[in-house]
Amino acid sequence: MSNLTKDSRIYIAGHRGMVGSAIVRKLKKEGYTNLITATSSELDLRNQADTEDFVKTNRPDAVIIAAARVGGILANNSYPWQFLYDNLMIEANLIKAAHECDVNNLVFLGSSCIYPKEALQPLKESYLLTGPLERTNEWYAIAKISGIKMCQALNKQYGRSYMSLMPTNLYGPEDNFDLKTSHVLPAMIRKFHEATENGNQTVNVWGSGKPMREFLHVDDLAEATVFFLENEIDSENDLINIGTGKDITIKQLAELIQRITGHEGEINWDSSKPDGTMRKLMDVNVASELGWTAKIKLEDGIRETYRWFLENVESIKEVKMAD
Ligand code: GDP
Repeated sequence: MSNLTKDSRIYIAGHRGMVGSAIVRKLKKEGYTNLITATSSELDLRNQADTEDFVKTNRPDAVIIAAARVGGILANNSYPWQFLYDNLMIEANLIKAAHECDVNNLVFLGSSCIYPKEALQPLKESYLLTGPLERTNEWYAIAKISGIKMCQALNKQYGRSYMSLMPTNLYGPEDNFDLKTSHVLPAMIRKFHEATENGNQTVNVWGSGKPMREFLHVDDLAEATVFFLENEIDSENDLINIGTGKDITIKQLAELIQRITGHEGEINWDSSKPDGTMRKLMDVNVASELGWTAKIKLEDGIRETYRWFLENVESIKEVKMAD
């Protein structure tokens, strides 16, 4: 990466999502003035010709791929075709268009679910493709692994330096609070908030509470993305984990969110819902040796996200519940 200046043309694909919008905020804060974006109604990234045309016309110096079909355990399990096909097309179209337009700076964002279900913990980058994937999200994982391999193929064959960053479970402002498709952290914020509003009703959460998850604030990921975009990284490190290196049980998370939202009722664990993988803690040594570590503490991050939720609760109800 590198050779970027504050007026370099940076295309952020997926700028309306939680990740893309955090990256746009961070780039603006750092003084970048030439950000390129397109909404999904302006450009369908699953369409190859339109995507190539857009990249050719806009001539970016850097491309950040934050566009993806994402969702929690139930959404992944229920829409295998969309999670596989949409993600494959988005990545293939963007990576190919960037290469053909001679864009040398590219950051591809994935997820920790690319690693094998039974891999040793914490998860090192070298564990990729060493065993079977978690069944509930293998569709998404296979698409993301393909994206990493596309970047690596171009690096190997054409000397590109395309980089794949694999964040752990993310949360923060602009998250998806729709209970059918969201991840656990925003789902719990919403459930505990609504139960508290309704007189401390019992909150139903999923699974056994025993699985462990690591959570990263999206502003930390945005900082990491800009850091790795700006810094020259050798080709050995084209896949880097981005996390905190610390995890907690889903039960501990429920109790923390219960405390933050002021809920005083019962918690009920619905064992008919899947636990998913039992643990997926990232090994973050590569990122820290290269100079980046996460800064935002989980409790502070959840409090800030809860404030954002409260400020946006009316629009969240209207837009996201209607889906
Ligand atoms: P995952 O990390 O890909 O498994 O996705 P999730 O964030 O959706 O789920 C993480 C864990 O939280 C799983 O064990 C879920 O069963 C559990 N969980 C508990 N309550 C909820 C909830 O209300 N929504 C979601 N999405 N997960 C929940």
